[in-house]
Amino acid sequence: MAKALVVLSGGQDSTTCLYWAINEFGRENVSSISFDYGQRHKIELEAAQKVAEIAGVTHEILPINTFAALGGNALTDNIDVQQDVDEQTQLPNTFVPGRNLIFLTFAGAWAYGRGIEHLITGVAQTDYSGYPDCRENTLSALEQTLRLGMEYNITIHTPLMNLSKSDTVELAERLGAMDAMAWTHTCYNGQQPPCGECSACILRAKGFAEAQRPDPLIERFKYFEK
Ligand code: ZN
Repeated sequence: MAKALVVLSGGQDSTTCLYWAINEFGRENVSSISFDYGQRHKIELEAAQKVAEIAGVTHEILPINTFAALGGNALTDNIDVQQDVDEQTQLPNTFVPGRNLIFLTFAGAWAYGRGIEHLITGVAQTDYSGYPDCRENTLSALEQTLRLGMEYNITIHTPLMNLSKSDTVELAERLGAMDAMAWTHTCYNGQQPPCGECSACILRAKGFAEAQRPDPLIERFKYFEK
């Protein structure tokens, strides 16, 4: 049976992808990986660990702390998350240039030595942020690059690529991901319970509202941690 590796950030989308992979490849053939890239909020990594544990798959955290040294974005630097886009780049300051490219390249290198030929990532080009490294053309070019550069038959799967946020919620529900969803982390401000005000929290809430489904993360704080 084919083996698969999920790039797990600890958020809603990568958690949905983890369950997609389990459904597609079988739990025993799925492993997950997260990157400690110097993000300000380590809570993401704890969430990823917890999600993998609930899903019953192995999980590794690889350290790649160069992004913090590069600077210039709100996810690794001590600067405020801006809701508005930069005039020149048309991107918000939560864009970490090269991040997905590097993540998937490391994931590919990890997969290579372990007989894993399938990588799964939760990127979506419908994402409001318009990050260029989340688009289909970037991902297919990267897949081609990895195949050539490693002479290895690797496939990058992007099950959420063309789904809206509410479609993603419905998919997570169908795949049985909601228990794990209660332990995911999305908030750009690193708050638990989530701040509800940053662009990540707003987008997540919109998806659950449109899918007419309560967010298990919010429910967890409402009922179990009072
Ligand atoms: Zn937030």
